Amino acid sequence: MGERTQGFLSEEDPSTSVETFATFFEAISEGMALVEQGRITAVNRTAATILGRTPDELIGSSALDFLAPSFRAFAVERSASDYERPSELAILRPDGTVVPVQMIARSICYGGRAVRLITIQDISERHRAEAALRASEARFRALVQHSSDVTIIRDLDGTIRYMSPMAEQVFGYTVEELIGRNRAELIHPADFAAIAESVARIQSEPGVHAPIEYRVRRRDGTWRFLEGTATNLLHEPGIEGIVVNARDITERKLVEQERDATLQREQQARQEAEAAVRARDEFLTIASHELKTPLTVIKGNAEMLDRQLDRPTPDAERLRRLITRVRTQLDRFGDLVNDLLDLSRLRHGQLALRKQSLDLAALAATVIERFQLSGEDGGRHTLTLAAPGTVFVIADAERIEQVLTNLLGNAIKYSPAGGAIDVEVYTETNDAVLRVTDQGIGIAADEQQQIFEPFNRTSAAMAVASGVGIGLYVTAQIVARHGGTIAVTSRPGQGSCFTVGLPLGDEGADSR
Ligand code: ADP
Repeated sequence: MGERTQGFLSEEDPSTSVETFATFFEAISEGMALVEQGRITAVNRTAATILGRTPDELIGSSALDFLAPSFRAFAVERSASDYERPSELAILRPDGTVVPVQMIARSICYGGRAVRLITIQDISERHRAEAALRASEARFRALVQHSSDVTIIRDLDGTIRYMSPMAEQVFGYTVEELIGRNRAELIHPADFAAIAESVARIQSEPGVHAPIEYRVRRRDGTWRFLEGTATNLLHEPGIEGIVVNARDITERKLVEQERDATLQREQQARQEAEAAVRARDEFLTIASHELKTPLTVIKGNAEMLDRQLDRPTPDAERLRRLITRVRTQLDRFGDLVNDLLDLSRLRHGQLALRKQSLDLAALAATVIERFQLSGEDGGRHTLTLAAPGTVFVIADAERIEQVLTNLLGNAIKYSPAGGAIDVEVYTETNDAVLRVTDQGIGIAADEQQQIFEPFNRTSAAMAVASGVGIGLYVTAQIVARHGGTIAVTSRPGQGSCFTVGLPLGDEGADSR
């Protein structure tokens, strides 16, 4: 095996070479030593400083003696192979300190002999820096690994490349199951647009953050709310992705939602209470007015009766007319008081029903006849009944009559121009159906539900007739207590159609 020689140590002029070599040897900032047959024959100051000894102490000593014991065998093996690769070894100084060094051994020809030129470099600083870097890396890893936040690194296309362990709690999947998936599989579709907007904002500018809030689907199918920031670290070596730091805010969201719902409920309750107070005030005004009108008429007619009776020959015909008027007003008065009593009973759950088998068709015929005979509407309306035969229900006859009376009364009252009022009674599947259709003023679509609430009157109704707004509420409650339904279809200006459905009963059956 041929020994390699360094060019400048030419043997043509050994004295010049030795001089040149010695100058160079001292001037060089790297540690250098010449070793001949295992013994140090020359050493520069830098090397002596690294070894912690004076050059005199070193010359003639075995080079191996200065190595930390654990590196000696390795150094022997290395020197045998004449391998010029840098080796990392450690020096043991006389004061006991161990100094990491990098050594390169080269074979050269010096003074006609084959010697080894060893360069030696103190790498303590590099070791310290590396250790510090390792420690800081470990610290950061520990921070991320034990953080209550989820750290996600993803590619621009959404592929998840890293998830911190906390993700397992949030997602219910293991980190291994999450890595490689596309985040789109886990994000709530309704939140895509907002996320896309945030990412678009940061995508073009390295290091820029954007706040994000979105829902993710857990393995069990439930949704969790995450809140955090997305940072563009696409250009950061070792990361090259979008980094998302997020925390699970589901509990907070639920509390907020609950608080909002409570707030909304409270607000609604307050509005309802205020509306109830307003309605009651309005009701008192209307009710007293409604009660006062018949009373005034009754009073006036009673006085006229008195005056007639004071006459020597009272006019019998006139007396009868006055009495009829008093009766009509008393009926109106009585109806109103009954409505108020019903309202009060309903409010206190005291509307008792005496159910029995009842033919709805026959009852409708009776009520229609009563309306026709009363002549109340001056013959402006044509009341017709279409009933295919008997239609039996188990019901309180008086209350169902009240329902019919109310619907027919309203049909007449709210079609001031007159017209046909059709009453139909028929069966449909398991229901008995009663339908009253008029051609009156109608009810706007947005008011159709409210009219079943007490004291609710449409403005169109108020313009054409007086009323308190209780009848339909009582009607709907009576129907509901019979297990039935009531609905309205209507077009303003064209008429209304009220449909009542009651469970069908058998003839002769009773409620027991
Ligand atoms: P009232 O007739 O005393 O106002 P109701 O409770 O019977 O009270 O009716 C409530 C409201 O429903 C009425 O004020 C009216 O606005 C509306 N309504 C009821 N029936 C009809 C109908 N056939 N056509 C138009 N509006 C009606």
